[in-house]
Amino acid sequence: MISNVPVKTVTHKDLTIEGYSRAAVQTYWRIPELNLGFDFGGQPWSFMGTPTWFVSHTHIDHLAALPAYVGRRRMMKMEPPTIYLPAPTVELVERVLRLFSRLDRGRLPCELVPTSAGDEIELSREHVVTVSETVHTVPSLGYVVWQRRRKLKPEFQGLHGDEIRDLRLGGTEVTSEIRTPRLAYLGDSSPGGLDGCEAMYEAEVLIMELTFVAPRHRKERIHKFGHMHLDDLVERRERFHNELVIVSHFSTRYHPRQVHHYIEKALPDMLDGRLHLWI
Ligand SMILES: [Zn+2]
Ligand SMILES: [Zn+2]
Repeated sequence: MISNVPVKTVTHKDLTIEGYSRAAVQTYWRIPELNLGFDFGGQPWSFMGTPTWFVSHTHIDHLAALPAYVGRRRMMKMEPPTIYLPAPTVELVERVLRLFSRLDRGRLPCELVPTSAGDEIELSREHVVTVSETVHTVPSLGYVVWQRRRKLKPEFQGLHGDEIRDLRLGGTEVTSEIRTPRLAYLGDSSPGGLDGCEAMYEAEVLIMELTFVAPRHRKERIHKFGHMHLDDLVERRERFHNELVIVSHFSTRYHPRQVHHYIEKALPDMLDGRLHLWI
């Protein structure tokens, strides 16, 4: 085990959420069971085996470790990774990787996939990712991971197995797809990024930013910088149907004690115990 950058962990049902996020410092997350991660503000050595990544936006504290990640995988003879990122940023990121490749005199093989709000990405038979718009100061996206399975349509539920088989052989579609939003990642965004995507509020696990928590930091000003204030969370408390809400990306202006203090004061029940402070 090589210890390099901090990693916190929480488990929810069959999912392990690992990562770290502090505004202006570094943000990175991964969910090993889903075989995917979000953002490259840092890249713990232990994250290298995860082959699929989604970049929320290209601020340095969310991107700086990308060349290191790609280079490590090449060095360890792993398959080139697939990295989804906001479409307008792909060309520049390609150039950055090319320059790094020259400096390093080593190849940086990876697939960069231009991604836009409204896209649907098929990860496997079981999982699909949908992409939504978020509101930040550079091109930015939010992501929702859905689990899908096929379920017998209600009109066929009373039938015997052989009757269903005959219908299927006759060309009738007897099942329909059921999707469950398992995990949503907001990235950096003002509240518009949540409000514009209902699935953010419905996902079992929501990972969201909450950069500012002190009353002296006014939310109107914070929205201009594409961030969220604790007041925004309080205003929307009834909308969060998530089983677990992870709040993260706190400003470095706050000591962890202050973060706990302000949040516990504003939300004494911690969203009925569903709120998890990632600090
Ligand atoms: Zn950030
Ligand atoms: Zn940012």
